[in-house]
Amino acid sequence: MNYKYNELEYVESVYNKGFQSKYIFTELRLLVLYFRDVLDMKPKEREYNLHEFCKKYIPYFKRENYYKTINKALKTGLSKQQKLITISKIDIYKSELDYINSLGINQEYKKVMFTFLVQLKLNKIIYEYKYNKIYDTLYFYGGKIKYNNIKNISNIPKIMSLNDEVINKLSDLKLVTILHRGKIILDYIENCIPEGEIIFEVTDYNNIGLYLDYYNGIKGIIKCSNCDKIIRVKNNKHKYCEVCAKEMKLSQTKNIAKEGMRNLREERRVKKIETC
Ligand SMILES: [Zn+2]
Repeated sequence: MNYKYNELEYVESVYNKGFQSKYIFTELRLLVLYFRDVLDMKPKEREYNLHEFCKKYIPYFKRENYYKTINKALKTGLSKQQKLITISKIDIYKSELDYINSLGINQEYKKVMFTFLVQLKLNKIIYEYKYNKIYDTLYFYGGKIKYNNIKNISNIPKIMSLNDEVINKLSDLKLVTILHRGKIILDYIENCIPEGEIIFEVTDYNNIGLYLDYYNGIKGIIKCSNCDKIIRVKNNKHKYCEVCAKEMKLSQTKNIAKEGMRNLREERRVKKIETC
């Protein structure tokens, strides 16, 4: 699960179950905000509880080995700009998709454009929430990690190169402008005007490209019959996403076991009557 945009749920699992990853500082920082904004703790209480948490969950915890990390985490609690972030959905307007779909380009390129659009909307929400200022930039910049992330969440084929192929092509078509050092201007966003009908909501930020595949009726892209997650399937036998399929299998096994127990009890009851 991508917790980046659902920090509240993430920090709740940290609070209840201990560290969820190797990123101890990130999790302590979120805990401090959780202590402050959800549990209403004052600075002294936050400090005490953070130490208690570390004692409980870090094996052989020694205060002197962690004081820098802990102090840095506690400092975030003093900044009002630091807040827990939860974005449950991103609205997509028909007008935005109409524009992207009006372009005579490959579906995979459209998915990248759509993904950048959603990413920009996510960035905007976070920025405006944190800084209370309007975010109206069309820039995207980052290094390898950020571009790799865009490639993954666009759900484009692995062999396709995001920078050398897709972004270059979009630049040739004057849809984006390539600046330098991983900086691009997403010029086309100006034509994606959010107005009129909201056609769907993006809730799975790890598979943004699949939403456009589903909307455009691409073969093999379906909605899980149980949870509505959009998934890619190899054949039409599949109806459920991985998580739901596992749950269904588990409950089926349980039902078979229950049925077996019931039959056994019934057999014993019949035998008892017979022997009477
Ligand atoms: Zn599902």
